Amino acid sequence: MNLTYHTVDLKLKHPFRISRSVTELKKNVIVRIDEGIGEAAPSRYYGENAETVIRCLEKVKGQLGDDPSQLESVLSNLDKNLSGDFSAKAAIDMALHDLVAKKLNIPVYQLLGLDGGVPLITSYTIGIDTTEKMKEKTRLAGEFLVYKVKVGVENDLEMVKAVREVTDAKIRVDANAGWSTEEALEKIDRLKEYGIEFVEQPIDPQDKAGLRRIKQEAGIPIIIDEQLMTSKDIPGFVGCCDGINIKLAKCGGIREALRMIHTARAHGLMVMLGCMIESSVGIAAAAQLGSLVDYLDLDGNLLVANDPFEGLKKERGKLYLSDLPGLGVTPRKS
Ligand code: MG
Repeated sequence: MNLTYHTVDLKLKHPFRISRSVTELKKNVIVRIDEGIGEAAPSRYYGENAETVIRCLEKVKGQLGDDPSQLESVLSNLDKNLSGDFSAKAAIDMALHDLVAKKLNIPVYQLLGLDGGVPLITSYTIGIDTTEKMKEKTRLAGEFLVYKVKVGVENDLEMVKAVREVTDAKIRVDANAGWSTEEALEKIDRLKEYGIEFVEQPIDPQDKAGLRRIKQEAGIPIIIDEQLMTSKDIPGFVGCCDGINIKLAKCGGIREALRMIHTARAHGLMVMLGCMIESSVGIAAAAQLGSLVDYLDLDGNLLVANDPFEGLKKERGKLYLSDLPGLGVTPRKS
């Protein structure tokens, strides 16, 4: 199989601020394996960038063999040759799924035995900003049924209040580890008056005792994201949360995301499917698994102004998978 790649500069519609960082431009890597396509959305937080992705691709591009249908062995071989480097692995995993499904002339969800016909309700993320800007972003976003508000800074209660003033939709919050345990308990208590659905990553993921306490006392579901990478990490968070946030770029692709979903269910955990800032390629790949999860946060492509691809339909806050073969994405016609 022949692997090629190129980088894409995704420009954010608004600077995307979370408790620890701000992003205006995201450099991702589009990977092609024969006619299959995938996307690496590297995360600085996990020590990755476009250069580290390219180094991985160069290292493994001659080791893919010539049979894409051998997904399990090709991908476990990759795992042996790349340590970490989850977004690079995810791009190869997506491209192989796309390639095999195209060869069979079926969508990837069908290849996986999943229902592709269910409308997928996604949240739309409102990054940290002035309260006026956050209201404006919520209004401009259009008809979403759920908003995810980034918190974890001093005035976060005012920010959520501002968003609540302009929408009746559900609101979930993500503190990206920006709170201490005491602060989290106090703020969650006050946030409840705005009808919060759940809280993502209230505190440092290493602070298991703090997480356990928050889970017991907060009275609202707690979802873990940061530092929960693959299925192997799930047992360590049991008792510390009510659910986990899976991202293809964080776990290494569709194959591992499926393992994570089943592992989470075996531990009685809820499952959220999230994303990085990425184009319709990465988002469509994650959306193939949408029918299996409780919460979707697949808005990465909607936050960028220049998505080079298309393929997912969005209507009134719901995503609809394409029934084209593979991931169903094609270069955007402009
Ligand atoms: Mg998160």
